[in-house]
Amino acid sequence: MNIEAKDLSKIYGEGENRVTALDRASLTISPGDFISIIGPSGSGKSTLLHLLSGLDRPTGGRLCYDGRDIYSLSDKELSAFRRQRIGFIFQQFHLLPVLTARENIVMPRLLDKKQPDEAYLQELARMLGIQDRLTHLPHELSGGQQQRVAIARALIAKPDVIFADEPTGNLDSRSGSEVMELLKTVGKDMGKALVVITHDSRIAAMAERRLSIVDGVLSEVGAG
Ligand code: ADP
Ligand code: MG
Repeated sequence: MNIEAKDLSKIYGEGENRVTALDRASLTISPGDFISIIGPSGSGKSTLLHLLSGLDRPTGGRLCYDGRDIYSLSDKELSAFRRQRIGFIFQQFHLLPVLTARENIVMPRLLDKKQPDEAYLQELARMLGIQDRLTHLPHELSGGQQQRVAIARALIAKPDVIFADEPTGNLDSRSGSEVMELLKTVGKDMGKALVVITHDSRIAAMAERRLSIVDGVLSEVGAG
């Protein structure tokens, strides 16, 4: 799937409260790309990722997935499109506390009234090293394990692209590195495009294509 963002902007507030969180960002994401976007706190990283993944709508610009303008979809259509084609990983994991790891992972499929692919679920769990944690509740897991569950959930619908918003931001540096290595390996093995947002230069350096964002302005850093 080819993703093309053209002049995406997001302006919050009005008058003296007006904030240009994202200023005409353009970006093309091709199948299998591994892209990092680095920027300081408040630079517009989350805003950009939410727009690229259809979690939010821009105040200007266009976003096409294989030539289809996804902001022309209704909210309901856009939610379904996101669940089926886009994986999203949050800094805070966002697992539902009353559901087991397995139930969290399959939840996006159930919302689409689809049966999860059991063999694929087992393969994901094995690749992520959580096969013996599937019956545990989130609070019974370490941060790194919770994020690996969240990665499995992001992949369960076999999306074309994964967006990760500071996926290691809540982890110590060792489990953060492990999670990033896993994410990179799983992305490569499964042929997914991966877009990771970070303020950590070591994580940004793992990507093949690196961009930076400062005060809402996105620019290419160079090929690594
Ligand atoms: P980052 O993820 O890089 O820390 P964000 O994308 O969250 O940055 O925020 C970019 C800018 O937009 C910041 O100045 C932030 O305060 C502002 N902002 C983000 N969300 C909102 C909102 N819902 N309302 C008003 N301002 C916002
Ligand atoms: Mg953020």
